[in-house]
Amino acid sequence: MTYKSKFGFGCMRLPQTDENDPTKVDQELFNRMVDTYMENGFNYFDTSYAYHGGISEVAIRKAVVERYPRESFQICDKMPTWALTSKEDNEKFVNEMLERLGIDYFDVFFVHNVNTPWLKLAEKCDTFEYIKKMKEEGIAKKIGFSFHDNAELLEKVLDKYADIIDIVQLQLNYLDWNDPMIESRKCYELCVKHGLDVYVMEPLKGGVIINCPDEIKADFNNFNPDKSIASFALRFAASLDNVKIVLSGMNKMEDLLDNCDTFENFEPLSENESEFLEKMAEKLDASVAVPCSECGYCIKECPEMIPIPEYFSLYNLSKNRPAEDIYKLYFDKLADEKVPASECTYCGTCLDFCTQKIDIPEELEKVCENFENGFSPYASFP
Ligand code: SF4
Ligand code: SF4
Repeated sequence: MTYKSKFGFGCMRLPQTDENDPTKVDQELFNRMVDTYMENGFNYFDTSYAYHGGISEVAIRKAVVERYPRESFQICDKMPTWALTSKEDNEKFVNEMLERLGIDYFDVFFVHNVNTPWLKLAEKCDTFEYIKKMKEEGIAKKIGFSFHDNAELLEKVLDKYADIIDIVQLQLNYLDWNDPMIESRKCYELCVKHGLDVYVMEPLKGGVIINCPDEIKADFNNFNPDKSIASFALRFAASLDNVKIVLSGMNKMEDLLDNCDTFENFEPLSENESEFLEKMAEKLDASVAVPCSECGYCIKECPEMIPIPEYFSLYNLSKNRPAEDIYKLYFDKLADEKVPASECTYCGTCLDFCTQKIDIPEELEKVCENFENGFSPYASFP
């Protein structure tokens, strides 16, 4: 395995023709991005039943499966764990996924988003036994699970299932490496202990790492003006020995080209660079009000349908740049046109599902205080 082969195309955030409708994938741009990615010698696509409301799989069929020989690409798909209601559902979803993708086997198949509540569902529906059977029958070449919880739970899951799986997909980046809630480092070390491959998701923490304050951008520029912030984050993850795939979710051609360059001319992270990233992680950690990765899992669970990540995104922006347009966006777009953050009933339903272990109701309360309860500079704007 070379460093180059570690670059995977994450298909959770594809280009869209309508930014408010995730099912409107910009197929023409995606096709061109796939062509560029494949021409540069990369071949791994990661999707799930849920991404883009099911359209991510269809978009991959159109861009990849119908345009390239089957042996020239790899596809990873994931069981929608949260939607399982019976043992029979395993087969129902797998058949649907194969049909959407237009393939007859998966290169990699995961139980999606293992956390405390969804692990219970997967176990109730015998999903780990089911994916083991998929591998035995050749429906999946390699199997595993994607994980969104702490190291304590991962240890329990691996003690039970490490023998039947090949891979764990982890959230791993320099901001979460020592984070006490995400515990990327401890989780990675557990996988190494069990001799498992690690595939990396969220190497940019859903954009938090690159959408950093100007001061941090300037630090990166001073450190190395020729390399993007994203390139450092991808190299951080891909430099680890057990990491075999690093996913990047790209919706712009320029991001794809930058990532291609990073992996084509890959250099493992030096000690000096590691120390620099450690400092940047500390700075960034102190500057991010809410470490939301905008994965959207909470919205599906919120009975009030509060657009939680949109509020957190604006809140973070307002902390770093308390400008009039941000406050206008809050009042005119979000609180007026969608469900106000103040509609949170503190039911707590979302808490188990947050991939970043954020206390969502508490943080929404801060959002309201910030924008609505007199702390907002908006009141003084004309
Ligand atoms: S606690 Fe608030 S944000 Fe979370 S699910 Fe309940 S109403 Fe929605
Ligand atoms: S609050 Fe948590 S679950 Fe919701 S989008 Fe952000 S990271 Fe994802």
